[in-house]
Amino acid sequence: MEVIKLLTLVVGFLTMIGPTIVLNKNTASKKSKLLLLMAFVTGPLWAVSIFIFFQTGNLDYARISLSLIYTVSVLTAILTFFFTKMFPYRTQSRFYELFLLFVPAFFILYEVWLTDYFILSIGADKIPQFGNSYIFWVFWFAYTIGSRIFYLGRNLGRITEIERRQSIYLVVGLAIAGLGMTPTNIILPYFGIYEYIWIGPIMGFFMIAFISYSVITLRFGTFKTLLLKAFAFSRYAIIPSLIVASLLLFFFDLTVSLQNLIILTITTLISFYIILFFRKKILNNIDPTEDFSNKMSTVLGLEDISNEISSFMVAAINPKYFSILIFDKFGKNLYSSKKQENKNIEFPMLDVISYGSYYKEIEKIVVLQELRHLQVSSIEEQNIWRYKRFLSLIEYMQKLEVDIIVPISLRNESQAFLVLGSKGGEDMYIAEDLSFLNKIKNTIRVLLERAILYQEVQSFNETLQHQVEEKTQELGIKVKQLEEARRKEADMIDIMGHELRTPATVVKLNIELLKKYIDSNPEEFKKYIDRIGNAVDTEIGLINTLLTSAKLEGNKVEIKHNKVDIKEEIEMSIHGHEKEVREGVSISKDIEQNLPFAYADKIRVAEVLNNLISNAIKYTDKGNISVIAHTQGDYIVVSIKDTGKGISQEDMKQLGEKFYRVDNYLESEIVRPGGTGLGLYVTFGLVKLMGGKIEVESTQGVGSKFTFTLPKYTGQQVEVLGTVNRFEKLGLKR
Ligand code: ADP
Repeated sequence: MEVIKLLTLVVGFLTMIGPTIVLNKNTASKKSKLLLLMAFVTGPLWAVSIFIFFQTGNLDYARISLSLIYTVSVLTAILTFFFTKMFPYRTQSRFYELFLLFVPAFFILYEVWLTDYFILSIGADKIPQFGNSYIFWVFWFAYTIGSRIFYLGRNLGRITEIERRQSIYLVVGLAIAGLGMTPTNIILPYFGIYEYIWIGPIMGFFMIAFISYSVITLRFGTFKTLLLKAFAFSRYAIIPSLIVASLLLFFFDLTVSLQNLIILTITTLISFYIILFFRKKILNNIDPTEDFSNKMSTVLGLEDISNEISSFMVAAINPKYFSILIFDKFGKNLYSSKKQENKNIEFPMLDVISYGSYYKEIEKIVVLQELRHLQVSSIEEQNIWRYKRFLSLIEYMQKLEVDIIVPISLRNESQAFLVLGSKGGEDMYIAEDLSFLNKIKNTIRVLLERAILYQEVQSFNETLQHQVEEKTQELGIKVKQLEEARRKEADMIDIMGHELRTPATVVKLNIELLKKYIDSNPEEFKKYIDRIGNAVDTEIGLINTLLTSAKLEGNKVEIKHNKVDIKEEIEMSIHGHEKEVREGVSISKDIEQNLPFAYADKIRVAEVLNNLISNAIKYTDKGNISVIAHTQGDYIVVSIKDTGKGISQEDMKQLGEKFYRVDNYLESEIVRPGGTGLGLYVTFGLVKLMGGKIEVESTQGVGSKFTFTLPKYTGQQVEVLGTVNRFEKLGLKR
């Protein structure tokens, strides 16, 4: 019997262990404080009351301890009521509930302490006799506890898995305690059998243990971690308590007995608990978040920010492993703070996201322990798809020893994940850690977004710089090209001077000759006058080309649309150039019968034809030059074909550029005067202006064919030509 009483006392104090762990890890929670209070009442208070009742020889003390025992029962009922009101969810108490709780409770306490209606008497054998109030107490107690169990059971269907499981533990704990206590502490005592009441506190121990277990393990740990935790605690507390107790025995010169040793050990142990409980509050009063925010205000780079976050996490939560992963909206990994050791396992991004969407909480934190329970319930619900998702998530977390994954949504649908390994120092995650993570999440989101933005701006800067360099290089090339063009233009001005001087020299020379032979040889006259005429024609032609080219450049050429007889223009142009045709070269024309008019500018058409025909004559030594004209759809097609030297494919690309002349340069030195390089430039420009197209086909050594088109005249509006001015009379153009 002695041993059992001592055991009751020890178990009574042990009841405090579970709630102390809960509270130590979760100080903020009222629920945890209530649980500790409940444990204190059903544990030490009850056990000590029973212990005194059995041990004392004084009947007055026996009565006080007995009153204390029933006070404990009243307090237990009240605390259970409030605890179940908060656990798993906080619910409001109704007035009638509070009324039915407190009014009878005060009545019973009054009866117990101040009247003889509850405890009638205590016999010399210490067997108490109970009065009618005892019956009232039984009903009230049964109603209070029973209604709470009933309420919890009824609500099981309405709450989420984790909470449901917690509630089941609570109901089972209460039920076991109720089953054990009812006969030993309620029914048997009424009939005078009082020796089994020690079973009460032991049942209380189990009840509290069950509840503590459900609070801690279901969300965060396993039974193993809980045992480890308890062991770690006993390492630090039980052995020193024993030593302190022994020292106390020695110093206070107390009777050395097992009983005294146990009592002293337990007292010391409780002191340890109290120190442990306050230690956290004393040591942890520096807020790590504040320091963190201060530091972070100056850090910008993603790598630096992630390093800071990591060291902050280690300081605040102390996970064995921590990393940050960032993915873009296509699931491409943008950043990992740590290389994954096991590269074969891909981060189960989709599983994490869908986990949140099952619970309609986008950023739901994944906790391995919680996931395990949910996985079990998904089998029960036969939700295979969900089961598989959970399974693959669990597999990943187990393989990499990850306990917690915190998803954080970022801008542009990117996603960041904080991956936390198990806690260092045999510790486990608690509700406080989760709420801490939830709080710090927003700060981290802002930091990561800022870092990503900073990175984007930096890379934008780089590309900008790159582009500027590229453009500068391009500009350099352009400047070189321009310089080259200017040099060529200067060369061409030399050529032009030469070209313009030649006919003038011819005129001057022949006038000299005319003067000389004016009396002696009048037959020679015509020859000289012809030469002068030709030279003046050449000069005029050159001036015309120059003028047109200048006008083309400044977009100043005016096209005066009219009906143009192409046949007549061809014939006139051939006629005008016949004298230049070399010996051994024939010139012919092939013009479609009834060739329609073209809708063009007569003077410009003549200019185009003159240029092309004179080129053909200039660059053909033998064979034939033919001018062909026919209609094709809405157009008149004119080709000037020769059997001359031809143009290489390479040169053909540059044909029509201003001042471009084939073989003009040899090793960049100008070598071949005899043309201006403006003729084709003018020709191409004019054809385009008149709404036609020009094409060149040519084979070196075989010949060339220049083909241009002009729109057919189909009754379009024509411009009335003004009177011919004196320049036009001279053959000089507008
Ligand atoms: P140019 O005053 O030098 O004749 P053009 O602009 O009329 O100037 O012609 C440009 C260059 O195109 C000429 O220098 C010549 O090399 C080439 N070219 C033009 N027409 C012909 C052709 N019918 N046969 C061969 N080469 C030609």
